[in-house]
Amino acid sequence: MDFSRVELSDDDQRFLEESRAFLSDLVTEDVLRRDRETGDNFDEGVHLALGAAGYLEREWRPESDGGFNRVRRRIWELEKRRAHVPWVTSGTTAMIARSVEKFGSPELKAEVMPKVYSGHVRLCLGYTEPEGGSDVATCKTRAVRDGDSWVINGSKMFTTGAHNCQYVFLITNTDPDAPKHKSLTMFLVPLDSPGIEIQGIRTIDGDRTNIVYYSDVRVDDKYRLGGVNDGWTVVREPLNAEHGAVEAAVDGLQDVAIMMHQALFMADAADKAAAKVTQADPNGRRLIDDGAVAYRLGRSVARMEASFSTPNIFGRVALAQTMRDISPDLMDLLGTASSLPLGTDGAADDGAAEYVFRFAPLVGIYGGTLEVFRNMIAQYVLGLGKPAYAAPAKKAS
Ligand SMILES: Cc1cc2nc3c(=O)[nH]c(=O)nc-3n(C[C@H](O)[C@H](O)[C@H](O)COP(=O)(O)OP(=O)(O)OC[C@H]3O[C@@H](n4cnc5c(N)ncnc54)[C@H](O)[C@@H]3O)c2cc1C
Repeated sequence: MDFSRVELSDDDQRFLEESRAFLSDLVTEDVLRRDRETGDNFDEGVHLALGAAGYLEREWRPESDGGFNRVRRRIWELEKRRAHVPWVTSGTTAMIARSVEKFGSPELKAEVMPKVYSGHVRLCLGYTEPEGGSDVATCKTRAVRDGDSWVINGSKMFTTGAHNCQYVFLITNTDPDAPKHKSLTMFLVPLDSPGIEIQGIRTIDGDRTNIVYYSDVRVDDKYRLGGVNDGWTVVREPLNAEHGAVEAAVDGLQDVAIMMHQALFMADAADKAAAKVTQADPNGRRLIDDGAVAYRLGRSVARMEASFSTPNIFGRVALAQTMRDISPDLMDLLGTASSLPLGTDGAADDGAAEYVFRFAPLVGIYGGTLEVFRNMIAQYVLGLGKPAYAAPAKKAS
């Protein structure tokens, strides 16, 4: 991997400055406050403005088709983070749009893709079900063919962003008697179809997600993605991307670990704690001069840096685990006022570490839990075989 600094051409430097200025005008204090209040991690005004200025199209199209080149893509991603552009629904839209391009009929692509690029159409993930999401292939939501359409019944848990989206990328079961990976069919279901009910759920960190009920929802066959009972082929690619089970590009122009976006909240909290403990009180005393404080801060920062440098699927586990482990340490260093949340008068670090403490459990759940990822690493990367859950055989006496 090449760790050298990337020399920006004059054009790329100009692009960086334009993007930075554009985003700082767009993502106002009002946008950030609203986002915290709704927990949506999406702002329609911001999203539409990005679409109108052509950024969504350039971000989501491949370079060969008018999209950003690798350097600009990297600049753009980093600038979006710097400006705190709400990211959840645009992330799911980008991921699903690639599957629509690959598996959608020409008619479906013509209906959806121009509006995806303009920002008017957003897409969310309908994988998880109330009875369990780790194994997405054990899907119980049924789709039954009826002439040129399908009738869908079931429910999906945690369909984040459904209330801000126009379509859901839905896993359905179309053959309950088949082996589980041969029983699935994917649809891009319009969320304004009769029979769909979206109910909001707030998570402990304040994010909003949804449970979505499907009762006799009729969907035309043109909304099917890929073959009947071949949904696993369609869903595997976005799942691998979400899991970080993809090869890193050799140019190094991407995050080392996936979920860096989430991890930067931890970096922000560590920076704030470091600033606080190095400030002198009126008597000239600094918390950092206490060896225990220096040790705990140093250990937290070292663990954080190590997690940032841990690649792809390993990094995902390292980041979420480190967020869980160091946020209580950072809060301890800052004292009781660190338990006050963001935007509260008197909060020690404007609630940064407290937010990471509430956010970290979720980062280790969505897209797959840490336990499941550890098993995947053991099984597929380290080649340790499938875990055997059967009781051990009794010793012959
Ligand atoms: C904030 C948030 C947003 C989300 N957004 C979306 C979304 O947009 N779309 C979507 O479809 N889903 C979404 N999810 C769902 C998420 O992907 C699932 O919660 C996750 O995959 C775990 O599934 P589950 O909650 O059903 O837990 P289960 O699968 O029921 O697991 C329960 C427990 O058993 C453990 N476990 C399960 N299987 C194994 C195994 N093989 N080995 C070891 N331990 C195991 C798990 O680690 C967990 O502790 C979201 C979840 C959250 C919290």
